[in-house]
Amino acid sequence: MKALIEFSYLVAAVLFIVGIKRLAAPATARKGNLTSAIGMLIAIVATLIDRQIVSFQWIIVGGVIGAGLGAWMARTVPMTAMPQMVGILNGFGGGASLLVAAGEWHRLTQPDAALAGATAVSIYASALIGSVTLSGSIVAAGKLQEWISGRPVLFKGQHVLNLVLALGVVGLGAYLLLTPDQPMPFAALISISLLLGVLLVIPIGGADMPVVICLLNSYSGLAAAMTGFVISNHGLIITGALVGASGIILTQIMCKAMNRSLANVLFGGFGATAAVVSDRDKALAARGVRQTSAEDAAALMAYAQQVIVVPGYGLAVAQAQHEVRELADQLEKKGVQVKYAIHPVAGRMPGHMNVLLAEANVPYDKLFDMDQINAEFERTDVVLVVGANDVVNPAARNNPQSPLWGMPILDVDRSKNVIVLKRSMRPGFAGVENELFYDSRTAMLFGDAKDSLKKLVQEVKAL
Ligand code: NDP
Repeated sequence: MKALIEFSYLVAAVLFIVGIKRLAAPATARKGNLTSAIGMLIAIVATLIDRQIVSFQWIIVGGVIGAGLGAWMARTVPMTAMPQMVGILNGFGGGASLLVAAGEWHRLTQPDAALAGATAVSIYASALIGSVTLSGSIVAAGKLQEWISGRPVLFKGQHVLNLVLALGVVGLGAYLLLTPDQPMPFAALISISLLLGVLLVIPIGGADMPVVICLLNSYSGLAAAMTGFVISNHGLIITGALVGASGIILTQIMCKAMNRSLANVLFGGFGATAAVVSDRDKALAARGVRQTSAEDAAALMAYAQQVIVVPGYGLAVAQAQHEVRELADQLEKKGVQVKYAIHPVAGRMPGHMNVLLAEANVPYDKLFDMDQINAEFERTDVVLVVGANDVVNPAARNNPQSPLWGMPILDVDRSKNVIVLKRSMRPGFAGVENELFYDSRTAMLFGDAKDSLKKLVQEVKAL
């Protein structure tokens, strides 16, 4: 039986790896999700058979409540709130590891048991990482949901305080290794770790939350792996390690897409300097923009050779993916070549644009990554920017004072004509003006992206 259980965990782990591999391309992503879900089902069934289950009734009650809540969230949470939902779910993962660690600590510190060695280290590490993940994720989600200010909260001596607290936790862990059955130090270890999670995330600006959420995702994996050691569950160790590794790889990819180091994201207080930039922004705003009508914009696109669509967060807000697809179809009927340029951090989560466009069945071969398409902008007649802002802001190249400085962008400003669909002159996530909108080659078509796209479709059809 034991061998069968271990084999099931191995099968589950292989399915997770194949699933993650398939998630890397939009064409196979759905199957990848299903593959991983099957792996998870196998792992859960194996665990339920293998473990010394105290009460199946409670597991069923928990499962029904959890599955009900999950189904409700999946149906009701808007696409725009996905990052905070992912953040919260990471937090729950960390919280679960913390609870298992605390439960095992309680069990193993009873008079008839013994807590020592690797198990004790794993319990304290699991409690530490789980607590940091739980409270850090709640703060990250709160910032994204605007329950709390997205601005970095900085104060003097912050890093020193964090260091002292981190050393305190390590010291408590060491003390507990010598005298394990001490409830107060263990409670203090958890409390300080929870505080540390809050303190580590509050100095990070809202614009960097996606990176933080990926990092916390990695932490939740590490906490799960530690928990796996605590309860000697190989499936959990492998899965936790996979989540830990993939989370850190994604974190690195995102940092690269913003041209920032992880240290700069975590300690740089990005966003705290926005006030300094605002003078330059005011001067820019005074220049005024050129507006266009749906009729003129449609004509410009219909007679172009190539149109590149640049989707951004506004596409998700307007839920205009089907209208974008329809416009592309109409333009293609008129012989226009249509491509989509996808910035790695467009929207509010990695792959946000790919998911939206896949929902509207936009063929994958029309989607191009930043590196693939950037050289094409200068040969392109018209770029249609649909609710994108920061990812096309030339300040990333031109203004060293800008918070976006150094972030690789889509070189939309190098094309012959740019049409921008947005509702107002409000800035994007980074909170700064966009020089592109004031460029003489740019025309603004104000309005909700869905409405504007519907009008554009009608106008192109009528030509
Ligand atoms: P931005 O947030 O820079 O800009 C979005 C634009 O969409 C706004 O200027 C807004 O203007 C417009 N918009 C909003 N709603 C609508 C609507 N209904 N119709 C038309 N336009 C609309 O988006 P980008 O995608 O360019 O950049 C993403 C930013 O988010 C980057 O700074 C990135 O670092 C950050 N980020 C990225 C994450 C990721 O993982 N992808 C996660 C979290 C943050 P207006 O209000 O005037 O309409």
